[in-house]
Amino acid sequence: MLVVLKPGTSETAAADAITRLRMAGLAVHRTEYDRRVRIAAVGDTTVVDWQEVAGWAVVESVAKLARPFKLASRAFHPHDTVISVGRVAIGGPQLAIMAGPCSVEGEEQVFTIAKAVAEAGATVLRGGAYKPRTSPYAFQGLGEEGLKLLRRAADAHGLAVVSEVMEPQLVTLLARYSDILQIGARNMQNYALLREVGHTEKPVLLKRGLSSTIEEWLLSAEHVMAQGNRQVILCERGIRTFETYTRNTLDLNAVPVVKELSHLPVIVDPSHGTGIRDKVAPMARAAIAAGADGLMIEVHHDPDRALSDGAQSLYPGQFRELVTQIRTIAEVLGRQV
Ligand code: PEP
Ligand code: MN
Repeated sequence: MLVVLKPGTSETAAADAITRLRMAGLAVHRTEYDRRVRIAAVGDTTVVDWQEVAGWAVVESVAKLARPFKLASRAFHPHDTVISVGRVAIGGPQLAIMAGPCSVEGEEQVFTIAKAVAEAGATVLRGGAYKPRTSPYAFQGLGEEGLKLLRRAADAHGLAVVSEVMEPQLVTLLARYSDILQIGARNMQNYALLREVGHTEKPVLLKRGLSSTIEEWLLSAEHVMAQGNRQVILCERGIRTFETYTRNTLDLNAVPVVKELSHLPVIVDPSHGTGIRDKVAPMARAAIAAGADGLMIEVHHDPDRALSDGAQSLYPGQFRELVTQIRTIAEVLGRQV
């Protein structure tokens, strides 16, 4: 349920209303909008007499939060959420350009790519140190050593870091090195992992699952938010369809749909969305035109020798050209890179 308090309600009176709802056994989350405290009361809402709540002196309105996701919904929080990571604000007028290798492979590799993407205009360095590989025999990542390299390369070029965490036990370690915790597509419904990142204060980049609906994706965001971490960035990375020409089908419909349903920032990963290097730039341009708040792009200076996802990695020169084009598209939309 959504309980909106009257403008001018004192902090004490708001806290009192929140306590009363908690005492009824509900989980209570608050936000502010239009000079009003808004309270989402979730759980078994049938235990409360809502007509009585509507009669409380401080209450302006009581309404049902109709969607299954509550905290992620625009009905609860009408304003766009903007997530600050160092000098980057994700979800505001400036587009978030995240780029880097699929996997951190070594010092020279990650420093070379970090320099290239920073010079081209990226603000966040991506790179996997723990890799979810389809085959157990494929390169699994450098682990903590990879995280150290990624952090050093990012710091050397003034970039923030995003890296994937695959298991709850590794969340603390990842949070030590990475500014944003990435939940991969394969783990979108790993609820133990979602709960664990929900307990941190780090922004979470939540990729859409390979075969997940938009509603399931937003419910996964809700799992993180219900633990208290409201800093979720959604990332559309393509879904499984009957099409086999591309690695996945990049669902750009999801961008305007999610923007309507949710206040959370949405970025697009056309690298995994297409799996094909020369299809990445057109879909990146389309994603920004569709209203995405940013991009995640795989870049490698020697993709033929990359240990993962070389076929979809842009050369640094291609990435530079793409960012220039994105800048032009952004301008039309009143945004910047
Ligand atoms: C990745 O970002 O390298 C990755 C493994 O992505 P996804 O989880 O979208 O497959
Ligand atoms: Mn990859």
